[in-house]
Amino acid sequence: MTFQDFNFNEPLFEGIQSMGYTTPTPIQGMAIPIILEGHDLIACAQTGTGKTAAYLLPVLDHISRKTKPKINTLILAPTRELAQQIDQQIQGLAYFTGVTSVAIFGGGDGSVYEQQRKAIQHHANILIATPGRFLAHLASGVLKLDDLQHLILDEADRMLDMGFMDDIMRIISFLPKKRQTLLFSATMPGRIRKLAGSILNNPQQINI
Ligand code: AMP
Repeated sequence: MTFQDFNFNEPLFEGIQSMGYTTPTPIQGMAIPIILEGHDLIACAQTGTGKTAAYLLPVLDHISRKTKPKINTLILAPTRELAQQIDQQIQGLAYFTGVTSVAIFGGGDGSVYEQQRKAIQHHANILIATPGRFLAHLASGVLKLDDLQHLILDEADRMLDMGFMDDIMRIISFLPKKRQTLLFSATMPGRIRKLAGSILNNPQQINI
């Protein structure tokens, strides 16, 4: 299998090449077709498997074919470090596509919050956020989520370990019901399955 098999648009394909990716990893080979078909997905995958690009590539393909989308995709992640790593992969893969992203995480002084607010207002097709800070921006009214089409939970088990369950459910209550939801987790304890059961719609499943 090669990345050509997915028929990604040309600017995205150039981004993949510029990142030096030549062959899809096993999770990418399995997840990308499912996501391109529009299904919800629950994927059990560890860090280092290429899980981030597995969900980013089909979503970036979708967004870059659209004209001037607003906030199209929300990626929730447990920590600032992971949010920044995801943002960096987007910057690389989406470099030629014109798709924009902003990472939103807690910590820092008031000026960091202000910078995040301005960045969201000016240009953000994809937000990568830790749950608590996302709720703070949501309360300020700066986030317009009517056009959101994809919700991704990355390292869902860690988010639950860190006590973000209530925040996640609250965030989801503000999102359009008609959306694609993708849940990635390194482990699949009962409470992840329960979360998946309540927020995913007829999902496909992958175990790596
Ligand atoms: P992840 O599991 O998403 O944390 O990715 C682990 C690392 O693999 C990251 O540094 C990615 O940039 C890299 N990576 C992802 N997909 C590929 C691929 N198809 N070929 C080579 N490297 C990749």
